[in-house]
Amino acid sequence: MAWQAAELEQFPALTWDLIAPQASVAIRGALERVLEKQDGAWLTDEERYALANCDGADLLALLVAADTLRRDLVGNIVSYVVNRNINFTNICFVGCKFCAFSRGPREADSYFHSLEDMGRKAKEAWELGATEVCIQGGLPRDLPPFYYRDILRAVKNATPDMHIHAFSPMEIVYGVELTGMTLRDYLMMLRDNGLDTLPGTAAEILDDEVRHVLSRNKLSSTQWQEVIRTAHACGIPSTSTLMYGHRETPDHWVRQLSLFRQIQTETGGFTEFVPLGFVHQNTLLFQQGLARTGPTLAEHLKIHALARILLAGSIRNIQVSWVKLDRKLSQLCLRAGANDYGGTLMEESISREAGATAGEYTSPEDFQALILEIGRIPAERNTKYSRIKIKLPVVEGRASSPVQAERSSALAGGHGNPGFAIERTQAPEFA
Ligand code: SF4
Repeated sequence: MAWQAAELEQFPALTWDLIAPQASVAIRGALERVLEKQDGAWLTDEERYALANCDGADLLALLVAADTLRRDLVGNIVSYVVNRNINFTNICFVGCKFCAFSRGPREADSYFHSLEDMGRKAKEAWELGATEVCIQGGLPRDLPPFYYRDILRAVKNATPDMHIHAFSPMEIVYGVELTGMTLRDYLMMLRDNGLDTLPGTAAEILDDEVRHVLSRNKLSSTQWQEVIRTAHACGIPSTSTLMYGHRETPDHWVRQLSLFRQIQTETGGFTEFVPLGFVHQNTLLFQQGLARTGPTLAEHLKIHALARILLAGSIRNIQVSWVKLDRKLSQLCLRAGANDYGGTLMEESISREAGATAGEYTSPEDFQALILEIGRIPAERNTKYSRIKIKLPVVEGRASSPVQAERSSALAGGHGNPGFAIERTQAPEFA
């Protein structure tokens, strides 16, 4: 039985003991095994597909189990990174049908930031407290062959300590094509010029039949995997992503999450998994009747919960992409297995062009308020999650004490959390 949105939104009030007796024997058995072993490797393929396609009380059980497992595995901290997104050009010849961001070179609102601009933007971000710049762009024809390297040099010259998270696997393949270098040599050159981590974007759905409809000119599923595996082997970690809510099915989700598990076992190079909801409004894919109208509430919640369950014991961090969700929905996804809010993203234009309404910047203080509202602990992290600073509001008339710090450590919970520092911030205002 499908549930109405209003009923589904109430799932955080449920406990496992309340919902488990209402779930089917098969789903309950599968979830209990993962909760006990704390590892999704204990599921059979049949159980993975059953979880991805579940509904009604089974779906509620999945959401509650994912939240329980999140608490056991990573504790109550919700992390975020202070960063700036720099989409250095919107000129692109690839023509993905789900993309409303790209422009032709002669369109009035096309743009291309110079290397000086890139350095200046990175410096501004650093001065405003950002620790990361996330750089991606369209693929313009006739890009100078070493332009991606030159962007890294410009940013590192302006801000030597800034973490550079840059270039999708599609851009890496383009850079290889432009320079004639091998993939490995090209990635090592970028690494040696300041590339710290790679966004695992351009994955969408790693199934060539679906990819062919989404974008004929995009790199294949095999090429995507090759770039990611080679980057990890060169010491460049990456995120992993999946775009949902267009024309894919839950079975595609299972296959992609299983592939990410497999790559993680081989390389250990994924820092997190980020489900990206399809924003349909201004896209050709939707206008040509090739996609549904974006994800339903059940799909948003299910993909985050499914990722927590299937990736348990493999990829530790599940991120909500808040620009593609509204604030309430991002909070619900954090209660369905996710533990990271992503970046503050000053200047995010890709989702906005496609019709997303969540805005283009959330301040650290906004993140802290949203996280505290759901009873969790806000913490600023670095890109690789190796440093984390808990951000608690100032308690009137009291400075933070060792006792409070200890209590916060206990609240944070979870196994194997990276070391963290505690910092008090101005209390966020709750409207
Ligand atoms: S998604 Fe990226 S590669 Fe595809 S059209 Fe848009 S900017 Fe170009």
